[in-house]
Amino acid sequence: MPEIKKRIERYRRQALADGIPAAVIQIPDNRGYLSGFEGSAGTVLITQEDAFLLVDFRYVEQAREQAPALEVIQHHPEITITLKKLLKELRISCLGWEKSFVTLEQEDKWRSSLDGVTLVPMPDLVAELRMVKDDREIDCIRKAAAIADQAFEQIRPMIRAGQKEKDAAIEMEYLMRRLGADGVSFETIIASGPRSAMPHARASDREMENGDLVIIDFGAVYQKYCSDCTRTLAIGVMDSKQKEIYQIVQEAQEESMKAIQPGVRASLVDEVARSIITKRGYGQYFGHSLGHGVGRSIHEEPTLSLRDETLLEPGMVVTVEPGIYIPNWGGVRLEELVLVTGSGGEVLTRSSRFF
Ligand code: ZN
Ligand code: ZN
Repeated sequence: MPEIKKRIERYRRQALADGIPAAVIQIPDNRGYLSGFEGSAGTVLITQEDAFLLVDFRYVEQAREQAPALEVIQHHPEITITLKKLLKELRISCLGWEKSFVTLEQEDKWRSSLDGVTLVPMPDLVAELRMVKDDREIDCIRKAAAIADQAFEQIRPMIRAGQKEKDAAIEMEYLMRRLGADGVSFETIIASGPRSAMPHARASDREMENGDLVIIDFGAVYQKYCSDCTRTLAIGVMDSKQKEIYQIVQEAQEESMKAIQPGVRASLVDEVARSIITKRGYGQYFGHSLGHGVGRSIHEEPTLSLRDETLLEPGMVVTVEPGIYIPNWGGVRLEELVLVTGSGGEVLTRSSRFF
């Protein structure tokens, strides 16, 4: 697993550079990213020289198979006993850990068990590494997006008057699994008519009706990597207001996607979409940020929001998803998954937009 070794090396350079000789990584997606091990429990320990994966009895075989780049250790039912011994052997007395993940309970326990070891809360530095995807990761995201596109084409006949949102959503998820997905990135959203004014509505028992706008937001997981795509379809012919809103969202999306370039600030891409929607008088109805990073997690860094100063780099994968949601009327959201390349952005989602 040459990419795992590279990731560990990058982690050492970035995270262990501030005089912290070793760190534990437990956030599941971070643990999987740095080791290749996809079990549901385990602790990665990275030092300047070594990389260990501590797992309990249930996972020893799986860990050896999936994480050959790390030394796998079966820990005592009480992990601190094994960790204490290991740190002593390695002569390490200062240990970083992920402050966004450690609970107060774990902190109490570790502070009392690991006497003589200084515990240093660290920001989530693996999240930063994960922003830029390697080729294998990009291939997985591409594949996840292609599976979801295929499922969407098959589900479209179900987006019609008389059909329940929930039944179409269940079918969509089933199709994604049948077409090769390992799972879904999130519960499929199908929100029709006035319900489309809720950006994160769950599919309900509502029957779709003629004249509805229907927001369908879906994603597949392929080998741990997610995709994310939204389409808004109309049942029957769009009226003039529906057309107007749809076109504004479409323009905001197209223009902001054009702004995606390496070296461009994430916040600027949001700004491009937001200014178009605001100029047309609907700024107050676009209440969420323009997009988010996608990878092992469905929401990861960077975010395309006014607050994110990250400079885009080739290998980042972000969504571009402007929306306008008008209470008691409905909403429109269009979402594409975009890979930042050396010269711009490549759209990975291909689901068609019209009947
Ligand atoms: Zn989405
Ligand atoms: Zn999204």
